[in-house]
Amino acid sequence: MIETYQAQLDLLCEVFNVEKPNLIIWNRNHSAYSSLTNTINMRTRISPFQLTLEDSLLHEFAHYLTRRISGNEYQFDYFTGRRRRQVSPHGKEFFNNLLKVIAVWHDNIDKYSWSGEYKRIQQYAKPFRNQNAT
Ligand SMILES: [Zn+2]
Repeated sequence: MIETYQAQLDLLCEVFNVEKPNLIIWNRNHSAYSSLTNTINMRTRISPFQLTLEDSLLHEFAHYLTRRISGNEYQFDYFTGRRRRQVSPHGKEFFNNLLKVIAVWHDNIDKYSWSGEYKRIQQYAKPFRNQNAT
């Protein structure tokens, strides 16, 4: 599994001409990108209600790209000593990057497992998708 993910990630980094983030497989049922450690954490469990594992990596890679393009998603708040979120994690900027990643990887964006995406992202994607697609 790690080899498959790493190969996919290497290819994406090459196409988008970016350094490689860290990659970890973890024992949780969701994937995530941490900008603090610059690590993509991937799940291995397959669920019909979630993105495919391949698409899950595309989603997390889009978070990584968004962080690289717009700087840190988090900024340290000196008054509270806490991190503040600067960019909506699933906002328009993230979506635009996700769309680019999907278009490069799948050629046709309708091949992405959209039904496993957050509703908000599905809404953003509607104008870009084939009208007949589900
Ligand atoms: Zn996300």
